[in-house]
Amino acid sequence: MTQEELFKILVAHCKEYGFIFPSSEIYDGLGAVYDYGQMGVELKNNIKMYWWEAMTRLHENIVGIDSAIFMHPKIWEASGHVSAFNDPLIDNKDSKKRYRADVLIEDYIGKLEDKIRKDVEKGKKKFGDAFDEEKFIETNPNCIRNNAKIAEVKKRMADALNANDLEALRQIIIDCEIVCPISGTKNWTEVRQFNLMFSTSMGSTAEGANTIYLRPETAQGIFVNYLNVQKTGRMKIPFGIAQIGKAFRNEIVARQFIFRMREFEQMEMQFFIKPGTELDWFAKWKENRLAWHKALGMGDENYRFHDHDKLAHYANAATDIEFRFPFGFKELEGIHSRTNFDLGNHQKFSGKKIEYFDPEIGESYTPYVVETSIGVDRMVLAVLSNSYKEEQLENGESRVVLSIPAPLAPVKVAVMPLLKNNQELVDLAQKIMDDLKYDYNCQYDEKDSIGKRYRRQDAIGTPFCVTVDHDSLEDGCVTIRHRDSMAQERVKIEDLNSIIGKEVSLNNLLRKLK
Ligand code: ATP
Repeated sequence: MTQEELFKILVAHCKEYGFIFPSSEIYDGLGAVYDYGQMGVELKNNIKMYWWEAMTRLHENIVGIDSAIFMHPKIWEASGHVSAFNDPLIDNKDSKKRYRADVLIEDYIGKLEDKIRKDVEKGKKKFGDAFDEEKFIETNPNCIRNNAKIAEVKKRMADALNANDLEALRQIIIDCEIVCPISGTKNWTEVRQFNLMFSTSMGSTAEGANTIYLRPETAQGIFVNYLNVQKTGRMKIPFGIAQIGKAFRNEIVARQFIFRMREFEQMEMQFFIKPGTELDWFAKWKENRLAWHKALGMGDENYRFHDHDKLAHYANAATDIEFRFPFGFKELEGIHSRTNFDLGNHQKFSGKKIEYFDPEIGESYTPYVVETSIGVDRMVLAVLSNSYKEEQLENGESRVVLSIPAPLAPVKVAVMPLLKNNQELVDLAQKIMDDLKYDYNCQYDEKDSIGKRYRRQDAIGTPFCVTVDHDSLEDGCVTIRHRDSMAQERVKIEDLNSIIGKEVSLNNLLRKLK
């Protein structure tokens, strides 16, 4: 099965099992907007909790806020979003499809990288144990040619984007002979800039209305509250402010499920520091955030850093943590050294002093900021796409299982009486469920055969199933079945909580971050 086919199946699975539905589906949907169902919202909440606790509970100097989506319109002038939050778009005249010019070029680079990877795989097979990957890449003519091309195209793209030279950007697409994936032609329009902010109006009459924007990032709500938090929380630099909330972008490309949405959720943390220390903190936060991802056990090889060649208007260093999605390595999280650009501009535009008096050096300054910014929805997609597996079983049957990291699983344990028409079994199962539900999200299931019930739980990623049978009434033991190994063991009812807790506890996951 190709990765593309797998992705389609995953999207269908997400709908069938109540994770993600297209928005407004009975009205034929709304482009790049999705709703989370009963399973999806649990998964999303668990991801948010993992992030929130890792930021605020594990760092004494990081606190959280929840700022409004509507903000004063001047904020977006000060932040540069009104003038510079643009994407370069290009249309294919034959398919009438619209693309982001930089994404078309990045996909082209991705294809060259794939070619290199394939050559390396071939080399590995040919040379066996004696294979030296680094040397191979340096000496193999195909790899040399493709690497040179990648370097050339990256440089041209960075130069074009930095100079805002749209014609140069288009020329790269022409020179690389990039075709439209739909029509297969090179019949491209000019490249145009497109502002991504949604606007609406505030006020009871249109006349007196003020144009306001739906925030395209949560960060600005942190910047404009930075002094409130610093003063009321008696925070000393270095300190951080974390926030989880909705953001809105009128994205041009809307074809990748919840990877790129027009309404999405961000988890952002702005870390306020002394000027001059930003590159040290940037390196520390890179390491910290990668450790947060890796602790989930979704495969260290599925993450990589991608340092930016083109820096955003506010940054002096930036990197992405990329994840191996079904459509290749793509940005999951951004880490940016934002200098004092935002605070400095808010000071200028608002006319209010927002400097920090540093008692250690007896001086005031505008703090620098290192930011970590991750999309909740992209994280949901990373977890779901990494977890989805179709397995062939020894007995000839097959199963679909979501091996979601246990602390993130929507349902932690399913409790099942062997038979639904035996009141004693039902009562005991209900009692076990009533004991466990204070600690875990549990599901009670008595319909169909035990095998079918296991499959249903596998399909939503439930780490444990507990079955109550006739012996349970005598010996006080139940059968616990593990999702990934499908192993079953007989355990005492009073031991259930600790057995389950060991694997699903968020605290144990957080402890790994030390
Ligand atoms: P991209 O290059 O993919 O458009 P970006 O660099 O514009 O992303 P940032 O502005 O750095 O993204 O936003 C921080 C994070 O927010 C991203 O790493 C991503 O996880 C998430 N994010 C950004 N845009 C979207 C979107 N349209 N839908 C879902 N998540 C998004």
